[in-house]
Amino acid sequence: MDKNGKDRAENIVALGARGQWTTVDFGKMAKSLLKNAAEQEGKTVDVFFNSKVDKIEKDGNRYMLHVGDEQYYADFVVVNAGAHSLFLAHQMGYGLNLGCLPMAGSFYMTNEKMLNGKVYMIQNPKLPFAALHGDPDVLAGENTRFGPTALVLPKLERYKPGTYMDFWKTLRFDKNIAIALWKLLKESDIRSYIFRNFLFEVPYLNKRLFLKDARKIVPGLQLGEFRYAEGFVGVRPQVLNKDEQKLMLGEASINPGNGILFNMTPSPGATSCLGNAERDVKTIVGHLGKTFDEDLFKDELTEGEYCILPKPLESQKARVNLIRAEIARTQEKFEEAHSQEH
Ligand SMILES: Cc1cc2nc3c(=O)[nH]c(=O)nc-3n(C[C@H](O)[C@H](O)[C@H](O)COP(=O)(O)OP(=O)(O)OC[C@H]3O[C@@H](n4cnc5c(N)ncnc54)[C@H](O)[C@@H]3O)c2cc1C
Repeated sequence: MDKNGKDRAENIVALGARGQWTTVDFGKMAKSLLKNAAEQEGKTVDVFFNSKVDKIEKDGNRYMLHVGDEQYYADFVVVNAGAHSLFLAHQMGYGLNLGCLPMAGSFYMTNEKMLNGKVYMIQNPKLPFAALHGDPDVLAGENTRFGPTALVLPKLERYKPGTYMDFWKTLRFDKNIAIALWKLLKESDIRSYIFRNFLFEVPYLNKRLFLKDARKIVPGLQLGEFRYAEGFVGVRPQVLNKDEQKLMLGEASINPGNGILFNMTPSPGATSCLGNAERDVKTIVGHLGKTFDEDLFKDELTEGEYCILPKPLESQKARVNLIRAEIARTQEKFEEAHSQEH
């Protein structure tokens, strides 16, 4: 419905959740996980902020992490360093068949709450990282946050200096990467999407163009009702597979099977982070010869029933395909009716 309570003119296909939160405050979640870990009797938990890992080396059965002049040793290492995970993997000779295409993204924020829950547009299967969505932002008084936009940037972290060189090193540009990029660019959907998103970064034009897209979610949205969301940005490390000469959809993880993991997490990396953590913890305990108390895990962190990948992912895909088919049918009906009118 629009803000006057009138039904929208077009048909809408949707699924949603009523009466439950669909947004997570990941900062709070991380603090809670750390606090609970630190409270375990007989365990020591150390957190080092602002400590850049320059290099990881295999040292017998362990790993040596170089952080400035310091060295740390670990029996198992999980590298969750965003786009830099692949950079560190390459340094060690892993994942050399993969390259990284950093997709930067920005958001826009409204001055008031406009949506009660998350509203996601259906993704174009050719542009998996691209569907615009609107959320009540839990960190901004539930004002609505629209986005993200998408812009290919030759750097691994958006507002950190010195990551341009890391980008070129991680891309490992060669014939296969050129073919993968060419395959992307020859799709007209993708070409026009890239061009449009480039314009989203041009002052003055950006808000006006974005308004058109955001109105698909809130039809009555006005130019003065939203602004560029400062600080709500980042880079999604989309992974390019050189062997297959194509962009890999979703997340990628490198597990050489010898006590180290590297996770690259473009969207939906946040949504699936706990699922990935569960997968990784099982790999870690397996490698270290420890045991994982699955019952305690379910008892503490879930409400009993929870999503175990990958089967629900398949059923989710099937459901999304049904929705897409319904959209295609609606579109056909609309075009048919439209052509009869003329
Ligand atoms: C614009 C945008 C929109 C997104 N939309 C969605 C969405 O709708 N749904 C969804 O599920 N996900 C989404 N994502 C993805 C989601 O944000 C990520 O998957 C998630 O933040 C990844 O978390 P992470 O902790 O693995 O990595 P990051 O949040 O990238 O954190 C990695 C950290 O490692 C640090 N680091 C890098 N190199 C080193 C080093 N050598 N030593 C030490 N530290 C290092 C970095 O500085 C950074 O702080 C989006 C991402 C972006 C950018």
